[in-house]
Amino acid sequence: MFSYRHAFHAGNHADVLKHLILLATLRHLMRKPAPLTLIDTHAGTGLYRLDDGAARVSGEALEGIARLAAPGAVAGPAPALADYLALVASFNPGVAPSDWRLYPGSPFLMHALMTEPERTAVHDRLKLFELHPTDAPSLHTHIAQLEAGRRVAVARQDGFEGLKGLLPPPAAEGGSRRALVLIDPSYEIKSDYGKVGAAIQDSLKRFSTGVYLIWYPIIARPEAHSLPRRLKTLAQQAGRGWLQATLSIGTAPAARAGDEPQRPGLTASGLFVVNPPHPLAEALGLALPQLLHALGRGRGQGYTLDSGG
Ligand code: SAM
Repeated sequence: MFSYRHAFHAGNHADVLKHLILLATLRHLMRKPAPLTLIDTHAGTGLYRLDDGAARVSGEALEGIARLAAPGAVAGPAPALADYLALVASFNPGVAPSDWRLYPGSPFLMHALMTEPERTAVHDRLKLFELHPTDAPSLHTHIAQLEAGRRVAVARQDGFEGLKGLLPPPAAEGGSRRALVLIDPSYEIKSDYGKVGAAIQDSLKRFSTGVYLIWYPIIARPEAHSLPRRLKTLAQQAGRGWLQATLSIGTAPAARAGDEPQRPGLTASGLFVVNPPHPLAEALGLALPQLLHALGRGRGQGYTLDSGG
């Protein structure tokens, strides 16, 4: 437990997929001028350096955000992709993509949107959970720098447990209750797969109209295979709509003829959304082929996009 540090993975292909979909989902939800409760059950440190030791050692951002943002990587980016790249660029003002130093994790991405000028009067709230003994204090420090006051709360607490106390979200003036929940564990321990399913089952009972985004790795492990199937069953049993998007960048070819292919690491991941906003599927239908074109690197590459309900 706690050997996972997101700093090694920030800005990789899995972050790109997750953050692109998170951003596109929030954009649609934020068209309505009613407050949202945003919950990130596994927040990480919030903000990452792309030029520090962890990022350099792993090199994962080079195969993710750095490759995607490179000039000419995507000709005429789809709106969702352009929006995502513009958001990351806003953390690196005046700097060419090849020199980007900062990458926003999900907490900073959500905070950036809720503090955009047209949104500030709406009073969205952000609740963050992080348990890691080093990363939880780092998250506190990063969030304190935003001077966000009571609109952003950080808890060093189990996100699965903390979520229960936040649903249903408080009613706004006029009675509407709205929430987006990101569940993004590291799956370092096998029990996380079961906990994610249980959290969605419980959350749909507490608040069936919430928008839930669940990230999962696509790896050769039975629990990883069955999680998206379980999520689909839970959404269908609750009579809710769902969307599932996956991206596989494939295995990098050998650097020279005769060499072994590079050690693959994580090559594929997926995002499952319960109660996706209606236009999300169309937006991703445009963006995912471009993501694959920019990030795909070899055998096994591909994307999928399914929805129902
Ligand atoms: N959501 C972040 C983002 O997109 O920028 C990345 C999160 S990272 C994949 C998962 C994080 O969950 C790690 O920082 C890990 O320390 C933390 N974590 C692990 N188990 C947890 C738990 N039960 N509750 C809260 N955080 C946990």
